[in-house]
Amino acid sequence: MRLKTLEISGFKSFADKTRIDFLPGMTGIVGPNGSGKSNISEAVRWVLGEQSAKSLRGSKMPDIIFAGSADRHPLNRAAVAITLDNTDHYLKSDYTELTISRALYRSGESNYQLNGQDCRLKDITELLMDSGMGQDSFSIISQGRVESIFNSKPEDRRNIIEEVAGVYKYRKHKEKAQRE
Ligand code: ATP
Ligand code: MG
Repeated sequence: MRLKTLEISGFKSFADKTRIDFLPGMTGIVGPNGSGKSNISEAVRWVLGEQSAKSLRGSKMPDIIFAGSADRHPLNRAAVAITLDNTDHYLKSDYTELTISRALYRSGESNYQLNGQDCRLKDITELLMDSGMGQDSFSIISQGRVESIFNSKPEDRRNIIEEVAGVYKYRKHKEKAQRE
């Protein structure tokens, strides 16, 4: 599985539609302070289902929508699409290429799509669970996260180990079954 492309539009500083091709061998993104590097990694986390506005450096989710600049009006919609090469079927799907997209309007209305079909957040969460790419996973480590793992409670640390080992999903299914 490999990150192929990221398309961002109306998300944070990316007012215009911007496409980034992650060609093989690409290992980093560089740019001056404030040019949008962190916004790119936040776009990746957001499209994969991030629910915390705070962890995206905002106070409410619509803060991620382009807020305008000296010469541009604010926008009403933010959209991000990520395309993954899944020829190795690392993600449990028959598709060899997966495009996950998420859009949010200022009104609060939002939607997710998987390969162009409307879907629920739950479908995306299930697809990514135990892949190491889902919410709260460890493919994306933001500043302060390493410290928080060291300082976390034993139960939280256990969740981290279970997620890495791939058993977290089954414990969640079991807990749900027991509740029902
Ligand atoms: P550094 O090297 O300092 O870490 P960076 O390249 O990671 O910088 P970012 O933090 O990604 O930069 O980008 C910050 C810029 O994004 C700021 O100029 C900020 O005003 C802009 N920005 C953030 N949210 C929005 C928004 N909703 N609308 C417009 N611009 C935004
Ligand atoms: Mg940064």
